[in-house]
Amino acid sequence: MSAEAILTRNFARSDSHTLGVYRETGGYQAWAKAQAMEPTAILEEVKRSNLRGLGGAGFPTGTKWSFIPKNHPGPVYLVINADEGEPGTFKDRYLLERDPHALIEGMLIAARAIRSATGFVYIRGEYVEPWRRFAAAVREAYEARYLGNGFDIVVHRGAGAYICGEETGLISSLEGKKGWPKLKPPFPAIKGAFGAPTIVNNVETICQVPHVINRGAEWFAGLGTKTQGGTRMYSVSGRVARPAVYETSVSITLRQLIYDLAGGVTGNGKLKAVVPGGSSAAILTADEIDVTMDVDGLRNAGTMAGSAGVIVMDETVSIPEALMVVARFYAHESCGQCTPCRESTGWIYKMTRRIVERRGRKEDLDTILDVAKRGAGTTICAFYDGAVGPYISYIEKFRGEFEALVPK
Ligand code: SF4
Repeated sequence: MSAEAILTRNFARSDSHTLGVYRETGGYQAWAKAQAMEPTAILEEVKRSNLRGLGGAGFPTGTKWSFIPKNHPGPVYLVINADEGEPGTFKDRYLLERDPHALIEGMLIAARAIRSATGFVYIRGEYVEPWRRFAAAVREAYEARYLGNGFDIVVHRGAGAYICGEETGLISSLEGKKGWPKLKPPFPAIKGAFGAPTIVNNVETICQVPHVINRGAEWFAGLGTKTQGGTRMYSVSGRVARPAVYETSVSITLRQLIYDLAGGVTGNGKLKAVVPGGSSAAILTADEIDVTMDVDGLRNAGTMAGSAGVIVMDETVSIPEALMVVARFYAHESCGQCTPCRESTGWIYKMTRRIVERRGRKEDLDTILDVAKRGAGTTICAFYDGAVGPYISYIEKFRGEFEALVPK
């Protein structure tokens, strides 16, 4: 099954990033429409569309916008999280490179809904070409007077830290400080960038907004499931015949995504496991792929939609080795503020590595599970809880594989 291409409709064109092509294919018509709408009407339309955050948390977008205090006397900021750093995820880079005006138009509309005059786009430092393309599109939008008429965009490049994809870490970095997350509350909608109410949204989420306004909330909601509207872009990698980004309805199942769109499993051809939503998502076994790929479908299956980074593993893949790679990543990227996260990520990496190197002890597996479970829910940000997802699920679902590596 494949839904109508919405976000990716112009991707096949080599000049899809230009203002000319964007306008030719209906670009900035939603903004014209939104200018005639009251901010509350825009917000209600987005709420009714069931658009959910497509960066990781899956929170309803319109509801998030409604948390901005009414009649706030000072500035309100819109911040776009383009710090796409979740392993297995590579969709926002395509939007920035191939359809940057969709983000600009979405920002104009979102800013009107929350009454913001300034938007920031925080782009991952490694994303050089996406940044170039987006910055060029911002210049075009200023020349065409879409920007500079009550709304400005500041493009900010990150320096390459995973934790700056966490919204409060991102805000700290944007403010020129170390990218350390902060305890919530206060939530950014109350006290965010530079102390002002701030909405932080993912690139893909905001790129959907013009389509919601142009074609209406009912149309958008009808593309998805009961609780999540629209399409989303799934980054599919690993052992599949056609690794790529696929835009499709969120009602697609993981099985359809792997076999119908991505061409099936390579390697030895037999599916062993799938990570459905970026490296922080709990792993699913081959028997668990008849699940819809929307936020609630994957949550009910004990994992998460996250950033929609789908990593496919065939039977020849070593799950302990896969966990070691993931554990090394989290140990490296922990910002170090919280003891459970700083210490446990390092311990778990070392224990996993020693198991892979056949130097492990029988009790290591239970120690990893114990350490992981004790730390969950005790830290400043969700980074550690994200890391715990793979630690626990890889071991609990594939324990025999780990045990086989422990010397008798
Ligand atoms: Fe930093 Fe980890 Fe604490 Fe998040 S959970 S603030 S990444 S130490």
